[in-house]
Amino acid sequence: MVNKRRRRKRRVCSFCADKNAKIDYKNTGKLSKYITERGKILPRRISGTCAKHQRELTTAIKRARNIALLPYTID
Ligand SMILES: [Zn+2]
Repeated sequence: MVNKRRRRKRRVCSFCADKNAKIDYKNTGKLSKYITERGKILPRRISGTCAKHQRELTTAIKRARNIALLPYTID
């Protein structure tokens, strides 16, 4: 018997799910989805991003911050 998962809200990493999704530090529109309103990086348990992609994401966000594409913290 095949266990078909129907639309159960399983937390799948959005980057693993979408093979076209690329983590690009220049893509601030996408990166901003993974930071809080205050400019902090969203924890993995909230965003559901896998360890591998979370790491890439963090790097991308840090890079973007470095060249002032994203804020460090908004207070
Ligand atoms: Zn992933």
